[in-house]
Amino acid sequence: MKLHPIDSCGIMLSYRCQCGCRHCVYACGPRWQGWMEREQLEKLLLGIKKTWVYPRGLHLAGGEAFLNFDLLLFGVEKCRELALPIEYVETNAGWCRDVETGLEKFRLLKEAGLYSILISVSPFHAETIPLKRSLAAIKAAREIFGPGSTIVYMSQFIPLIAQFGEERPVPLKGWIKKFGLKQAGKIFWEGYALISGGRAGPELGFLAPRRFKAQAFSGENCAREILSSRHAHFDLYGNYIPLFCGGLSLGRFDDLPSFVQNFDYRKLPLIKILVEKGPYGLYEFACKNYGFQTDERFAGKCHLCVEVRRYLIEKDYFEELSPKEFYQNLRSHLPPLTPLEGHAS
Ligand code: SF4
Ligand code: SF4
Repeated sequence: MKLHPIDSCGIMLSYRCQCGCRHCVYACGPRWQGWMEREQLEKLLLGIKKTWVYPRGLHLAGGEAFLNFDLLLFGVEKCRELALPIEYVETNAGWCRDVETGLEKFRLLKEAGLYSILISVSPFHAETIPLKRSLAAIKAAREIFGPGSTIVYMSQFIPLIAQFGEERPVPLKGWIKKFGLKQAGKIFWEGYALISGGRAGPELGFLAPRRFKAQAFSGENCAREILSSRHAHFDLYGNYIPLFCGGLSLGRFDDLPSFVQNFDYRKLPLIKILVEKGPYGLYEFACKNYGFQTDERFAGKCHLCVEVRRYLIEKDYFEELSPKEFYQNLRSHLPPLTPLEGHAS
């Protein structure tokens, strides 16, 4: 089985983000430092151009890319120079104090060659971002890019968040208090179609409407996600992250085309297990060789995968568990959301 060349990708200019959302699959947040070097970004863009055969587009993101606006502008300009299609730039809009601020930034990005923007709106983002900032960004983006090129992900949450008011952030505990544990869990997990990887499992797993023992994932391998999804994320440390598998690296991609060409999944022990046997295989490996034990129930296969990886990184060195800081940031900087009494953990 070969690694399929990408036809779309995300570029993570940083893991730094003021939000530190509880659902973040890359465990981004304010504790992270560091940004992609311009040279590295340029080289990566060139590599992407040579690698993809049927380009669908790339997105530029963080963390929160607007926290380093000059670098973001540089990235957009380089994409234009290289004739690389940008699907969108992704932002949580926390920086957008008012419509004017939004207009100014979006105008600069449009002049640099950007045609579309994605603004994140959800209960998780609303924990640190007042709705009025999201709304100001949406208004400004619609004016600059047009309504058809302003993606609001996910707009159905706007009226729900508005029930709590627009002026202040809304803690997730407020949702639990208002809707009850069960209904709030449904809103979060089913309403957002949460991926259980990254921080979502450790932070929000206890709220998932359905949770399963590790054995339930037996037989679900990850060959599609790792080898054939044709979508990847590239971070500032040079990690090739398959699909949305935060904290999992297929290696360092100094030269992307030759990396893809020569990649052999069998050379990385954990990747080999995940491709062939999935996270249950990883669980068995960790039990057998490193004494892993759990009675926990998991919100999805990626939740199991993350918990096993979090254990393994403490026991041994595996080059595919990268960046290491991902595992140190699986708990958000936000106050813990304690399971309420009577709810099995
Ligand atoms: S999901 Fe939240 S923490 Fe993660 S990058 Fe987006 S805004 Fe930041
Ligand atoms: S289980 Fe692990 S390897 Fe498979 S898709 Fe989820 S995070 Fe990726």
